[in-house]
Amino acid sequence: MLGTGSSDGWPNAWCPKPCCTSLVEAGIVRTQTSALIDRVLLVDPGGEAPRQALRQNISLAGVRYVLVSHVHPDHLDPAFLMHRSWVTSEPLTVVGPKPVIDACRQWVKGGNITFVTVTAGQDVVLGPYRVRALPANHEAHGEACLYAIAGPDATILWGTDTGPWAKGVRPMLAGTTLDLVLLEETFGDSPDPTGGHHNLASFATAVGQLREWGSATATTDIVAVHLSHHNPPPEQLYLRLRDLGARAVPDGTPIVAGGPLSSLNL
Ligand SMILES: [Zn+2]
Ligand SMILES: [Zn+2]
Repeated sequence: MLGTGSSDGWPNAWCPKPCCTSLVEAGIVRTQTSALIDRVLLVDPGGEAPRQALRQNISLAGVRYVLVSHVHPDHLDPAFLMHRSWVTSEPLTVVGPKPVIDACRQWVKGGNITFVTVTAGQDVVLGPYRVRALPANHEAHGEACLYAIAGPDATILWGTDTGPWAKGVRPMLAGTTLDLVLLEETFGDSPDPTGGHHNLASFATAVGQLREWGSATATTDIVAVHLSHHNPPPEQLYLRLRDLGARAVPDGTPIVAGGPLSSLNL
């Protein structure tokens, strides 16, 4: 996980209250949610992604596929395409719903970039990965997608940003057993003012539904991401998530999907 925080990060730099200032003092900073899979598939390259990688001593030079959920800036800063073009012309495939691809195209002229526009329900093959776009319950200037990513070792659900499962997610996941679920839990105990995100209660319901559908099993690693300062303090949050059979991890935590659970079960 390159980052595990909400768009504003947690702590929120503008928050004067102890919920955020205590975390600053403790040096616990969550940046925008982004993941790098097998060092070759980058998911949701927000503006912080390149530095998230560098600070963890991870190079993005080997990335060949970029998967983008939606056009909100914490999930996509398309300038990465220009920055990359200054140093390499290795092939790269960028996948996302139409608003994402429209935003990306403006940042590259020529080059070895393949753009793939997806809509919910479509499958796309990226090297060893089979990716299915799922509908997100999230307003994003047009379509927003979630992704089921089946790789050589594991199947992962990228579940951010979204509120309660959109119609269509269940049939599109039918027959898929997930090894790792990365599901957003933005709002803690607060009600979500927009409906396009989860709080702890709706996160619990969403996880319960995955189990009911057979998509999540006893061995599925369920990790809450896109965490914001609306959440209870981390120690409380970890216990609340544990009660739901889920966990959260700090930025920079490696997760072994499809293998034994990481010992960093915070
Ligand atoms: Zn977001
Ligand atoms: Zn969003």
